[in-house]
Amino acid sequence: MLCLFTKGGAQSAMATERGHVLDLRNETGINVAGLLQAQTGSTRSYGLSLDRFVLDADLAAEAVRGTVKLVRLQTGVMARVDAEGIVALECARCLNSYDQAFAMEFAEEYRQVVDVKTGVGLLPKPEEEVDEETSTIDENHELDLAEVLRQEILVALPMRPYCGAECPGPDVIESGDAGREDDRFATLARLLAEDGPAH
Ligand SMILES: [Zn+2]
Repeated sequence: MLCLFTKGGAQSAMATERGHVLDLRNETGINVAGLLQAQTGSTRSYGLSLDRFVLDADLAAEAVRGTVKLVRLQTGVMARVDAEGIVALECARCLNSYDQAFAMEFAEEYRQVVDVKTGVGLLPKPEEEVDEETSTIDENHELDLAEVLRQEILVALPMRPYCGAECPGPDVIESGDAGREDDRFATLARLLAEDGPAH
């Protein structure tokens, strides 16, 4: 028996047509030309694997692993993404850098703006709202998960990063604490003084 397995970008589109699960390896763009020519409800599945994914000027996710499922809609493609990974954050208490694990999932509709067969621009129906917030499939029939993925990972991160039970805690500066207490007493004293004459 002869089995041949081929790997590489050139084979991706063909393999997608046969319904194989493909890997998005260090890329977030997916060509959906084939899916757009399939019936509404058709699906494609991908494994997602990003070694490093930039979130912000000084923030990046690492070891992002997950799955992407695409569903052909009448007006475009729905992408369902389920992923986890880590982001190096600064602990709000001890200010040390630590690896924060995250997990998130989202579904985003990518609107079709160009007809896949003719390349002619599709106008949105009057009842449909399309603005710069709307995710779209570009004129090369590619959708890019990057921007929504970036936003969803940021939302999945804790508001107040905390390195965990081993956190050494903030360095307590004695004079600083005394200063805060002095302020409190000063405020209290002022309030008492203001209330004083009324009683
Ligand atoms: Zn800490």
